[in-house]
Amino acid sequence: MPGLRSRHILAAGLDYIDLPSLSAAVHQCRRCPLGHSRTRAVPGVGPGDARIMIVGEAPGQNEDQQGEPFVGAAGKLLDQLLRGIGLSRGDVFITNILKCRPPGNRDPLPAEADACSPYLAQQLRLIHPEVVLVLGRHALARLLPGYDSISRLHGKVVVKDGVSYIPIYHPAAALYNSFLMGPLEQDFKAVKAHLDRVEERRQAVAAAALPVQKPEEQLTLFG
Ligand code: URA
Repeated sequence: MPGLRSRHILAAGLDYIDLPSLSAAVHQCRRCPLGHSRTRAVPGVGPGDARIMIVGEAPGQNEDQQGEPFVGAAGKLLDQLLRGIGLSRGDVFITNILKCRPPGNRDPLPAEADACSPYLAQQLRLIHPEVVLVLGRHALARLLPGYDSISRLHGKVVVKDGVSYIPIYHPAAALYNSFLMGPLEQDFKAVKAHLDRVEERRQAVAAAALPVQKPEEQLTLFG
């Protein structure tokens, strides 16, 4: 069957060995009509070994022009919230469900998200983050399908396949609806509390793995 065959070839072609080859493919991508209407594709930015990944919805106008995620007003707010918990952009890998801008910033269509999802799946495999911040309802529906709504799940930790997902309100939603700003700030406090717990556990494991000194070694140390 020609349809099945070409699908198989595409899926195999999406198995990139590293982030630069994945980004190069996103810049060439025509898997959905957004690949023809975009100015620039926006694969994502950040270190390939980031422990934290942030997944938003889709590039907006500024992102479409600059080829980088979260560079507009929502991005400024995101930077500020990250700074508030002691993080900067350099600490996180930021990307979106869609790598190209939907015209007029409309919601992503299911077919567009389907076409784009292998890129995000591959980014998750390559980066293998410990924590994924899921920004807003569209990212939530894709990354944690069948889970609760963003209004019920925001600020909570969902562990799936060994990765901690923390859904939070989308910064753009808080810019449009000021009543969401407080809950968004609380969400970031929940993120910080989770990261602190992870760090405490890491230190406890490292301390337990230290070699135990024999009594004679301790004697030499103290005289
Ligand atoms: N909103 C998003 O979800 N992603 C961006 O990159 C910018 C705004």
